[in-house]
Amino acid sequence: MKIGILQIGQTDAQTVNRVQENLKMIFPKTKCTLLPDNLPIPEEAFNSERQQYRSDLILQVLHDYAEKKKELDRLLGIVDADIFVPDLNFIFGEAEYPGKTALISLWRLRPEFYKKKPDPDLLAERGTKEAVHEIGHTLGLKHCSNPFCVMYFSNSIFETDRKQSLFCNKCFTKIQAITGKRGQEP
Ligand code: ZN
Ligand code: ZN
Repeated sequence: MKIGILQIGQTDAQTVNRVQENLKMIFPKTKCTLLPDNLPIPEEAFNSERQQYRSDLILQVLHDYAEKKKELDRLLGIVDADIFVPDLNFIFGEAEYPGKTALISLWRLRPEFYKKKPDPDLLAERGTKEAVHEIGHTLGLKHCSNPFCVMYFSNSIFETDRKQSLFCNKCFTKIQAITGKRGQEP
């Protein structure tokens, strides 16, 4: 499997690099590359009332980009903006289920957002968890009831911090079954 990471708008290169390195460890049989392109955040995604960006509209732009990149199996977009979907106050990320395209935002992963001191290690760890979670959705995984599994739904940063960046045994077995069918391994 080949995962491409694409930065959308202004992001934090150091965190993006560290997420990339972590993904290589978590998906050892996967080639994980940082794409040289940088897409702007689509203007229509900005909601001036909420001062937030519509995640589904950003995901659509990613989807269109991924269509042109046949060599990639998955595309992970990383944005540094407050994203939402109409039903929720905010989201950490969104993905096609199943599909090729996933999106995470660093905005609410920063300790500073919660009035804490900056912590690059913690930020990279949170970014990795959300990235693995969304890639899991693209592979066809649903949310998991195990609060320590990466596929657990994070409603708050507390839940992100509590879970690990790895799949529980149940989810890992599912991923192997899904990807095995296609002759690929995660
Ligand atoms: Zn999810
Ligand atoms: Zn699980």
